[in-house]
Amino acid sequence: MNMDIKENLSRIIASLPQGVKLVAVSKTHPVEMLQEAYDAGQRIFGENKVQEMTAKSQALPSDIEWHFIGHVQRNKIHIMAPYVSVIQGVDTFEKLAEIDRQAARFNRHITCLLQLHIAQEETKFGFSADECTAMLEQGDWRDLKNITIGGVMGMASNTDNEAQVIGEFRRLRDLFDSYKEKYFNDNADFNTISAGMSGDYKLAIEAGSNMVRIGSSIFGERNYQLNK
Ligand SMILES: *Cc1c(COP(=O)(O)O)cnc(C)c1O
Repeated sequence: MNMDIKENLSRIIASLPQGVKLVAVSKTHPVEMLQEAYDAGQRIFGENKVQEMTAKSQALPSDIEWHFIGHVQRNKIHIMAPYVSVIQGVDTFEKLAEIDRQAARFNRHITCLLQLHIAQEETKFGFSADECTAMLEQGDWRDLKNITIGGVMGMASNTDNEAQVIGEFRRLRDLFDSYKEKYFNDNADFNTISAGMSGDYKLAIEAGSNMVRIGSSIFGERNYQLNK
C-alpha cells in the first residue's frame, strides 16, 4: 500500500463526485500523520475514542472539524462537547438529549447523525428503522435546541457480496428520504447520508451517500497493538 498520505488523499478526493464530503478516519494514528493530512488540505477528521480524539484536538490546529464516529457512551459526551462538530453514532433519544444538555453547557451547537443498523451482522450498533421512526414520530427531539439532526449514518455488512452491500446502502438512503419527507421537509440541515469506508465507499456513493469515512486507504493499515 502506498503510504504517501498526501498522494492517497488527492487520489481519493479526485474519485469523489462533487458534493461528497470526506471524513479522514485517523483513529489509532499519531498526530504527525494527521498533521500531514492537514498540511495537504484535509480539515475533517474522524475518531472513535473520545479520549484519543480529545488529545489530538488539543495537539492540532483549531480549524479542524472533529467527527466522533464511534459508539457514543453517555458518560463521555461531556468530554467532547466543548469542541466536537459532529457526533455520527447517535442511536437513542437519551443520547441526543444528553448531547443537547452538554452542548448547552458550553454554549455550543452540535450536529448529530442518526446511526441506523442496516447490516445483517448482529454486532453493529444503531437504531432499527422502527426504533428511529418511533423516536422521530414521538417528537421530543424538536425541543432540543443545541443539537441539529444532520442526517443518517450507517455501516454495511463486511462481505464481498456487492449486491448485498449495495442493497444495505440503498436501504439507508430510502430511510433518509422517508425521514426527510416526513420530519425534515423544510429543514435544510437534514442533508447528510454518511456511508462508505475504504472498502465500499464507491458502492455507497452509487447508492446515494454524500459523506464517506475513509481511514486505511489514506493512512494505511491500523496497528491496534500500538494503540494500547
Ligand atoms: C474505522 C472506521 C471507518 C474507516 O474504516 P477504513 O476501512 O479504515 O476506511 C469508517 N467508519 C467507522 C464507523 C469506523 O469505525
